[in-house]
Amino acid sequence: KGGKALKQFAVIGLGRFGTSVARTLSRMGHQVIAIDSDEAKVEALMDEVTTAVQADARDEEALKAAGIRNVDVAIVAIGENVEANILVTLIVKELGIKCVVAKAINDQHGKVLAKIGADRIVYPERDMGVRVAHTLASGNVLEHIDLSPEYSIVEIVAPARVAGKTLGQLNLRAQHGVSVMAIKRNDKILAAPGADDVVEEGDILVLVGRNKALERLQES
Ligand code: ATP
Ligand code: ATP
Ligand code: CA
Repeated sequence: KGGKALKQFAVIGLGRFGTSVARTLSRMGHQVIAIDSDEAKVEALMDEVTTAVQADARDEEALKAAGIRNVDVAIVAIGENVEANILVTLIVKELGIKCVVAKAINDQHGKVLAKIGADRIVYPERDMGVRVAHTLASGNVLEHIDLSPEYSIVEIVAPARVAGKTLGQLNLRAQHGVSVMAIKRNDKILAAPGADDVVEEGDILVLVGRNKALERLQES
């Protein structure tokens, strides 16, 4: 599929977040082992993943029996029970899984996860809150991705005043340090557009740059 290598994943904890991760990976064609201590959660996802296993993930032997040592990436999506989340992250890391992604509920929790070797820490509630807030606060922002505290990628609807102009005329990179990564028009994508490409009304621009500069562009 799409030339991209298919991988093996384990998703531990099938709350709303874990279920969504497992289902999405599975639909992309990847192998997914889904694990939860709650039989009902396991049954609900059984038909959509490669293997669904009912087990307490704090039990190392149960994880091994589920085949966890074969996966490329393990996602620890246990939420409220922080103790279980930390313990399971530690166990899967010790089992030798190269990439362990763990869900944190706050910064302190994230720090602990980093200390015990989580390769990537995600804060789904916080990040989604940030994205929704950005989207709501400025009517023409469709997507917002933080790259760092200072830089972001945003998707905006091209304002009427830029329609009909080329990127060279708009001169965004030279003037604002903002690059247009892509222009979406209907179902087509113009990737890495150049100085001669024209922006049309209704285009969606994918921009990368400093937050300050991106905000200025959205205001003016
Ligand atoms: P979400 O917000 O994603 O719905 P949550 O943050 O509310 O989830 P929980 O519901 O606490 O998180 O946990 C997610 C799932 O993890 C639950 O389905 C729960 O049964 C499962 N879980 C909790 N502890 C364990 C454990 N030790 N082993 C396996 N699964 C566990
Ligand atoms: P640069 O090094 O910034 O690409 P350049 O001297 O190579 O500039 P061109 O590529 O011809 O010149 O582009 C002229 C100007 O058009 C750039 O300085 C820039 O401001 C703007 N521009 C071209 N492509 C983009 C883009 N994808 N996003 C933002 N601005 C662009
Ligand atoms: Ca939650």
